[in-house]
Amino acid sequence: MPDAHPDSQQVIQDNRDHTLFSWSVQQAANPIHMTGGKGSHFYDGDGGTWLDFSSQLINLNVGHQHPAVLDAIKAQVDTLCFAGPSFATDVRATLGKKLREVTGLGKSFFTLGGSEANENAMKMARLYTGRDKIITRYRSYHGATMGSMTASGDPRRWPVEPGVPGIVRAFDPYCYRCPFGQNVESCKRECVSHIEEIIQMEGPQNIAAIMVEGITGSNGLLVPPDDYYPKLRALCDKYGILIIDDEVMSGFGRTGKWLATQHYGIKPDIVTCAKGLTSGYMPLGAVVVSDAIAEYFETHFLAGGLTYSGHPVSLAAAVANLKVYEDENLFGRTREMGAYLALRLEAMKAKYACVGDVRYKGLFSVIELVKDKATREPLAPFNGTSPEMGKLAGHIKSRHVYAYSRFNFLWVCPPLIITKEELDAGLAVYEEALALVDQMIA
Ligand code: PLP
Repeated sequence: MPDAHPDSQQVIQDNRDHTLFSWSVQQAANPIHMTGGKGSHFYDGDGGTWLDFSSQLINLNVGHQHPAVLDAIKAQVDTLCFAGPSFATDVRATLGKKLREVTGLGKSFFTLGGSEANENAMKMARLYTGRDKIITRYRSYHGATMGSMTASGDPRRWPVEPGVPGIVRAFDPYCYRCPFGQNVESCKRECVSHIEEIIQMEGPQNIAAIMVEGITGSNGLLVPPDDYYPKLRALCDKYGILIIDDEVMSGFGRTGKWLATQHYGIKPDIVTCAKGLTSGYMPLGAVVVSDAIAEYFETHFLAGGLTYSGHPVSLAAAVANLKVYEDENLFGRTREMGAYLALRLEAMKAKYACVGDVRYKGLFSVIELVKDKATREPLAPFNGTSPEMGKLAGHIKSRHVYAYSRFNFLWVCPPLIITKEELDAGLAVYEEALALVDQMIA
């Protein structure tokens, strides 16, 4: 653990004076001065240690400062720091082959992150099908570039509306608050069948793709019923509509598999990925397309490119990061720790009045908070906050656990390398916070 930084307050002030922070009213931005990290922890300018219970932005899957990834980055920097996107490189070949193997799809196009990946996926789907509309779901986030932000369903899209044309939205498999008033045991999966009606009304011949998060992440971690994806796949096949599987957050081990949709036995046509592809060590995203789409672009112009598409240092970070997943059996470990986490979350649901629902797959999980278990009234309104959520988040932060919370949701998404002791330590702090909220709503 490092000593306190000699001038931490000044560093924070300079950051605030000279840079803009994302998704913030600037005067409300309250950054932590991060000075280093190791494994599941990072350090602040006061010399404090934090447990990273959200893997930064649910991307730092191998934890902070993994030596194997650092070494690979250093080696690539020494060999070849940059090659333009039209050059062949060793590392590009290696990662392309690996992504084909783990997704079961065809070829990869590289971007610098998830938003650009989704942007390019939508464009490729339009070029390949010759159709222009894309269906997305309301409780979704696909990125902050113009097209991906428009495609997102949640309120983060509102500032860019009307945005790019051609996005049509459908409802989500949100079984705890089913938009169709159904019960998951007895329903007829109206969350899929209503999409057929949307397809009819929009014209099947106009719809290029439906873009879905493998498992919805930042809108409350919506784990679909087991037959959701098989039914959606059948529906899309019926109308020649592509499935774009946005695995930016749910992919690369977060749920204990390469892709969240692999839990449900379906094959998408296009997979987009970023975050866990490099565990955030270097910026990288990818659009992995099926053999059929790759074949199409053998003879048709791929209209698009990026100066940093295929950046060798990013690709080297990805290759090393994926090797760490395999060498350290991190997906097996995620499934094991995830099973333990599931037990702990279910116990919290039984114990605390404010825990309405818990949802999980591997180390991808959320606690949904309510004011009243019987009515399911949310602890904070949609797109808002409340004194209770403020208290919850404030307490967790005061105990130096770094957690992601939004609206009435609190996530548990630690690095995949987390130990049971570290997981227990973070959950103990969460339980203190839940007890405080229970007192407030009693
Ligand atoms: N798609 C999903 C599901 C995401 O969660 C995110 C980011 O959180 C993105 C896309 C955008 O990725 P990026 O921030 O790398 O552009």
